[in-house]
Amino acid sequence: MTVSEALRTAAHDLAGVSDTPRLDAELLMADALGITRSTLLLNRMRDQVPPSFAALLARRQMHEPVAYITGRQDFWTLTLNVTPAVLIPRSDSETLIEAAVDAIKCRPPQRILDLGTGSGALLLAALAQWPEARGIGIEASDVALAIAQSNADRLGYGERARMQHGNWRHPGWHDALPGPFDLILCNPPYVETTAALAPQVMQHEPHSALFAGDEGLDDYRFLIPALPRLLAPCGIAILEIGASQRLAVSALGSASGFDVDCRQDLAGHDRAVILRQTPP
Ligand code: GLN
Repeated sequence: MTVSEALRTAAHDLAGVSDTPRLDAELLMADALGITRSTLLLNRMRDQVPPSFAALLARRQMHEPVAYITGRQDFWTLTLNVTPAVLIPRSDSETLIEAAVDAIKCRPPQRILDLGTGSGALLLAALAQWPEARGIGIEASDVALAIAQSNADRLGYGERARMQHGNWRHPGWHDALPGPFDLILCNPPYVETTAALAPQVMQHEPHSALFAGDEGLDDYRFLIPALPRLLAPCGIAILEIGASQRLAVSALGSASGFDVDCRQDLAGHDRAVILRQTPP
C-alpha cells in the first residue's frame, strides 16, 4: 500500500473518532516516518508505509489524542513536547497571546507570569514574542513542572523562564513571587464538573487542568482577587474563559477593581478576559 492509499484509508477509519481525521492521519504518518508533516506532504508518493503506523492509528481509534501519541503539539510559533500530565495546548489559547500583542502597544513587557503553565505553552509563546522579557511559570503538578522546564530548556528559553511550583488554592501562594508583573497570562481549569467532554479529552487529559466546580468558576474566585497585588500599575492580566463565562468572570474582575475587556477566538466564542488596573 502506498502512503497516499494508507492516508486515505486511515482518514476514513478515523472519521467517527476525530473532527480532523485526515490531519490526524497525516500527523501520525509523519511521526511513524520520523519526518515533519510538510515533508510528508511533499514526498508522499515515494515513501513506504512504516510498520509502526498501524499501532499509532489503533491508538487514535481508541480516542487517544494525536498530541499524546506523537508527544508534540504546535502552539503559536513553537513546538512543545507534551505528555498526559499536561493539557494539550489548544489554538483557542493563542487568543490570549493575540490579545496581549494587541493590548501592549508601546512598552514591551519585561516581567511575565503564567499561572498554571502546564506544558509552558503560554509563557514560552510570550517569551518568543517579546525577546527582552523574562518570566515565571507557576504550576501545581510536579510532573507538569518538569515538562514545562524541559520545554523551556529545549527551546532555548532556559535563561529567561523559571518554572516554579505553586498552587493558588493554598493561602499565601503568591507571597514569595518576585512581582510586580507587566503581563499575567492564565488558562485555568474552567469546565463545569458535570460537563460531558469528548472522550479524547475526558479519558486522556488531566482533569485537574479542566474542571473547576459546578459552574467552572472556582479557580477564578481564587485567582482574580490576588491579581491586583501581582500586577504592575500599567500591567494587564489575560485569562482564558469558557464561551459562556464572560459575564461571570468580568464581574469578578470588576469586583477586584479592574477595567474589563473581552476577546473572541477564531470561532467567534468569547475566549479571553482582559483585566487592567483602573487609573486612580
Ligand atoms: N477549552 C478546554 C476544553 O474544553 C478547557 C480548557 C480549560 O479548562 N482550561 O477542552
